Amino acid sequence: MAKEIYIAGEWRLGRGAVIQSLFPADQSVNAELSTATLEDVNEAIEKADQAWRQPSWRNSLPHERARILYKVADIIEARVDELAKLQTRDNGKPLTETRGLVMSAAATARYVAAACETMNDELTTQRAPDFMTMSVHEPVGVVAAITPWNSPIASEVQKLAPALAAGNAVVLKPAEATSLIALELAKIFEEAGLPKGLLSVLVGRGSVIGDAIAQHPLVRKISFTGGTTTGRHLAHIAADKLITTSLELGGKSPTIVLPDADVELAAKGVAYGIFSSAGQACIAGSRLFIHSSLYDQFLTRLVEITKGLRVGHPEQAGVHLGPLVNDKHLQSVDRYVQLAKSEGGQVLIGGEALTTGDYAKGSYYLPTIITGLNNSAQTCQEEIFGPVLVVMKYDNEQDLIAQANDSCFGLAAGIWTESYRKAWRIARALEVGTVWINTYKKFSISAPFGGFKDSGIGREKGRLGILSYMQQKSIYMGLNEQPNPWCD
Ligand code: ADP
Repeated sequence: MAKEIYIAGEWRLGRGAVIQSLFPADQSVNAELSTATLEDVNEAIEKADQAWRQPSWRNSLPHERARILYKVADIIEARVDELAKLQTRDNGKPLTETRGLVMSAAATARYVAAACETMNDELTTQRAPDFMTMSVHEPVGVVAAITPWNSPIASEVQKLAPALAAGNAVVLKPAEATSLIALELAKIFEEAGLPKGLLSVLVGRGSVIGDAIAQHPLVRKISFTGGTTTGRHLAHIAADKLITTSLELGGKSPTIVLPDADVELAAKGVAYGIFSSAGQACIAGSRLFIHSSLYDQFLTRLVEITKGLRVGHPEQAGVHLGPLVNDKHLQSVDRYVQLAKSEGGQVLIGGEALTTGDYAKGSYYLPTIITGLNNSAQTCQEEIFGPVLVVMKYDNEQDLIAQANDSCFGLAAGIWTESYRKAWRIARALEVGTVWINTYKKFSISAPFGGFKDSGIGREKGRLGILSYMQQKSIYMGLNEQPNPWCD
């Protein structure tokens, strides 16, 4: 029987078509899932709107909401292996990576619990003797959380935890290919004691169900992670409704190797930055700029390291790259590689799918390095979201910064150097939301995350990430006998 969806605290078969979750390694069916209809959407949102207004939730104290999130963290952590496996079955990422994502989801829930307990409303300084002002933070109401297939558990908890800590209700629409973890999260929040109605998980097509959720008048915030085209569409909806958004979108992140970089560390870091998750990460370091003085040496080492990477079954130990999420995506990655060739690029390594033997049933693509392109080439400008690195040479810093910033995206960047002064100077000049110096893809839950330019609007994580699910209200209290001039 198809899996049920979670509508405002009830497990029920969605009234839409049945879809399948497939294991990208061999196309076997993980589960059949029922999907939501527009009727289900309306019901979930109307009940969510009633639920967040309930005095028992509205007036719940921070430590009471925190208690639920601490339990969520404990349950996630206790089930780490099982959840990692479920995540791997859905999107094909190697178990070592999905285990990391699960642990980061637990850490997020715990951080948000602690942070929400210590957040205060503000008393503004008294500017006049006759009144006192207080600024209080209140929930926005029903939040739409729409998430992608590449790191579901991490991005979902990153939205659910702060939105609920802030006193809202959430309707979550996971990517249809990878909805299993979201449904499991609903069970976890239920077990942790989240009152009914505050969370719904609606499986379904983005353009139908995701769109309907975003359009619903009772939805007062859209928190989205995914592609820039969809993000822009949701921003239009939000603009019409005059509601706020957090949009975490695409990237084409530059990694920069300065003349004094530690070649060995940097080459390994660059390979990890692009090829982990088989490049299916918005933050993948997909454009590499190497200083001409060490270009040949660096590239030789990078190719050697890439040759040593194991592409294989994501449940096997020691595998660096699993399959891509599905064959359609593999075709799109391969089209970019063919485009790069037609633009004059040379494929140094990789550049093809693995289609024989154990690889035959999965969507496996070799880690690929392309040289000979100019930053203005389409392959250097568009997000590929696969294991494809374009490499360019540079001579001077001004030119490097201009090229690194010559992108519609501005999500992240990496810098490899022994000189922290240079690293600082370049970090400040880059138009991106996150810069890693002598490391890559490191995250702290307390550091805000988000993009410049077409990579998004707003920041997730940190204390501001919780406040982004709230709105401020200023309350003035008159203190004297003549509150206004006309009362004289
Ligand atoms: P990706 O390229 O990572 O799949 P998408 O932006 O297509 O990025 O998808 C991310 C999420 O957005 C998924 O849950 C998807 O179903 C949803 N989505 C796609 N199109 C729309 C839309 N028009 N309205 C709302 N949600 C959408």
